Formats: sequence, C-alpha cells, structure tokens
Amino acid sequence: MGPTSSPIQIAIIGGGIAGLSLAAALIKKPHLDIHVYESVHAHSDVGAGLALHRNALKAMALLGPEVHQAYLDKAINIGRCSGGDSEEAEEEMATEIFLAWGPHANTGKDQQPVAELGRAKGRKSVSRADLLGGLLGLVPGEKVSFGKRLVKIWEEGNGGRDGKVRFEFRDGTAGEADCVLGADGIHSVVRGYVIGEGHAARHPVNHDKWQVYRTVVGTEDAIKAGVEERFTRTVPILLGPRGHLNCIPLNKGTRLSAGVAVRGAAVGEGEVDGPGKARAIVDLVARDTSASWAVGDHDHAPVYFKGRVAMLGDAAHASLPFAGNGAAQALEDAAVLDHLFGKVKQPSQIEAALGAYDAVRRPRSQAVVDLARKFGRVYAFAEGDIHEDPEKLRQLFTLAGQFTNEADLLKQNEDAMSKMEKSVRGRSRNN
Ligand code: FAD
Repeated sequence: MGPTSSPIQIAIIGGGIAGLSLAAALIKKPHLDIHVYESVHAHSDVGAGLALHRNALKAMALLGPEVHQAYLDKAINIGRCSGGDSEEAEEEMATEIFLAWGPHANTGKDQQPVAELGRAKGRKSVSRADLLGGLLGLVPGEKVSFGKRLVKIWEEGNGGRDGKVRFEFRDGTAGEADCVLGADGIHSVVRGYVIGEGHAARHPVNHDKWQVYRTVVGTEDAIKAGVEERFTRTVPILLGPRGHLNCIPLNKGTRLSAGVAVRGAAVGEGEVDGPGKARAIVDLVARDTSASWAVGDHDHAPVYFKGRVAMLGDAAHASLPFAGNGAAQALEDAAVLDHLFGKVKQPSQIEAALGAYDAVRRPRSQAVVDLARKFGRVYAFAEGDIHEDPEKLRQLFTLAGQFTNEADLLKQNEDAMSKMEKSVRGRSRNN
C-alpha cells in the first residue's frame, strides 16, 4: 500500500462519542486530513450518565492513551470508598439482578441477586457532556465545525470510486471529501444514504413500546423514602412482569439515579407499578415523571457502507439501553476504523477499508442490538419462561457479559486489517 502525495480527506459527520473519539485518534495520522461536522452549536448536558463497560475502556486504550485518559479525567467513581481515596480502596461493584415478583422473588433483606453483570473495582460513570468535552479537547479547534447539520450526501463518478463524496448542510453550505464517516446518531442522515431511504431498517423502532422514567435524588433522601440501603450501594436491576427498576449510585454514593422502564407503555400513560420491596423505588421515580422518554433501536442494516461512505455508532446500530453497551460499541467501531485507516494511503483503498470494517463490526454490533432487546424482554418477564429459572438467568448474563465485555479487541482490529489487505491485493490483481 504505497504513499499518496496529498492527504486523504475524511469528513466525520456528527461530533458525539463515536465521531469525536474517532477524530481524536485519526488526527494523529499525518497522511489523513480530517474534519468533524456537528449539527448543534455546543454540546449541552443532556442524557443520562454513561457507565462504560470493560470493552469500552479497551477500545479507548486502542484509540490512544490520551483518549482513555480523557475519559478517566472526567469519570466519577460510582461506588463508595471503603477507606482512603486510592483506587485500591474502591469497593468492588456489580450490576446485580433481582427478581421482584414470582416464586423466585429474592429482594428480601439478606437475599443474594439471581445473577450479576460486570463486577469490577472502582466502576465509574461519566456524563455524556463531560466525556464529549474531554474528547473535543484532543481535536484542534479548526478541525471541528459546529452548527453544521448534514441534509444531503452524494458521490461522484462510478459510485464514488473515481471521485469525491459531496455533502450539503442545512445552512446552505457544502463540502467534499475522499471519504465520509457518518457518526450522526440514531436518526442518522448518512444511514439513509447507505441503506436507502426506503429500506425497512432505515429508522429506529420502539418495538416493545418502552417508556423510561428517571430521577436523581440524594441517597439519604432515597433511604428515608424507603429504598433499601443495599440498593443504594450496588447497581441493582429489579425485574417484574411489566418492566424493570434500576438504581445507580452516583458521586461516590452521595446521590442516587433511580429509573423505571415500562414495556408496552405509550407516551402519556405514565402509570408505573411494582410489587413489595420495589415499591419504594417506583414511588421515588413517580414523584416527578417529567424526565421520561421513549427508546428505540435499529433493525439490522444489510450493510454499513456504500462506496466511500460508512456509518458508525448509533447511526449504524442504535440499541436499547438495557445492555449498557451502546457507547462501547461506538468506541469499538472507532477503534477498528482508526486501525484500518492507518494503512489507507490512497483513496482507491478506502472501499477495501470500509468493506473490512463492515465485515468485522456489523455482526458483532448487531448481536449487541439483539442482546439489549432480549435483556429488555427478560427484564419484563416477556422472554418465554426464563424468569422462572434462576439458573438459566445466571447463564444468560454470564455468557452475555463474556460476549460484550471480554471480547478480544486487538484480534478484532487484526481480523479487520487482514480482510482489508486481502481485498486490496485482490483489487490490484484485477486492475
Ligand atoms: P450520539 O452520541 O447520538 O452522537 C451523534 C452526534 O451527531 C450528536 O452530537 C448529534 O448532534 C450529531 N448529529 C445528528 N444528526 C446530525 C446531522 N444531520 N449532521 C451533523 N451532526 C448530526 N451506552 C453505554 O455504553 N453505557 C451506558 O451506560 C449507556 N447508557 C445509556 C442510557 C440511556 C438512557 C441511553 C438512551 C443510551 C445509553 N447508552 C449507553 C448508549 C449511548 O449513549 C450511545 O450508544 C452513544 O451515545 C452513541 O454515540 P454516537 O456518537 O454514535 O451517537
């Protein structure tokens, strides 16, 4: 793969977690000329905090130590310290699954969770806005344009193989690049270009009519309101027939984020219910149901690229928040693209890189979309009778945790690279 005279221009559409983490990594490659186009004028502090799982941290480390550090600088320990402020003093913490209803209900005072996910020391959460601020600090200001909402995209010459990719913004301005990477989120415009506006998987769907409610209160307040003390120290998920409840301790245990996810609730039908020990959490969240939103996910896209245009992050595979792995998958996409573009030295090699990215990332990221959907149904007792068999539940969460968190991301990068190299060799033989 020989050198090219002028840098390869890459336009990244969307400056969210996927777009900015990718930009922070690609900016270090002198053979690339990148630019990020973001629709908003400034990132605001919207959305819940993110609890990034181990695969997210591994992907950040692959993107570069400074990307990982940007996260560490902004992240806050979820749990309490058992003494001192050192990492070692941090309590071990897991997401713990309890059955709040039925013959195996186990929310009683001293009962053990039926299953757990992601046990680790010093688990951290980060606000989306803080993380974006940290990532933005790694990309030179002149390489990011805010207030640029993409509305149209097209490729010149032979499906983009011979020419530039062109794009237009809502403010009437336009741009061009050798390659466009669409990280423009769940309602992606780039997705419409890649899979076609009329495709059945074009838009996200809330198949199970999920409605999510969240509140953040002081931990003492929550305990006074009847929330069991131990539910303020771990990350519990309490399962019941219509949906689930969960709590996340924030700010070293001083505040508590409590949520209720209701399956089959239409917007406006805000009634939430929960039995026994779960009732106090429901009551806490029901004090103010204004922080409520519907969630959705993407049915499988048949492909993640077309010509020299590809999509990544939520644009490619938005998932329900129930497996806590959406941002992690966005970061995995960025890590693979960064690795591949390290070897793309001519525009003619872009399609081989995007094909390799698609081959490696599509099956895994779509499996996570399916898993999050399945988790939601399991949490709501709507996935067969698995909720009646604690052993099956344990197995499901163990296997899922291994699949998401323990993945070998170095190997994922290497697999993608060998596919790309094979494709480049094949193309040069045919030319
Ligand atoms: P986004 O973060 O949505 O960024 C897309 C960017 O593109 C935005 O800045 C947007 O303004 C911009 N944009 C949109 N349209 C255009 C356009 N036309 N032109 C230009 N720019 C555009 N994941 C986890 O890993 N762990 C968690 O704990 C977790 N918790 C979650 C909790 C909730 C309630 C939700 C809803 C999601 C959660 N996720 C979690 C998922 C995670 O937030 C997303 O997967 C992640 O933010 C995706 O990043 P992204 O960059 O692909 O998309």
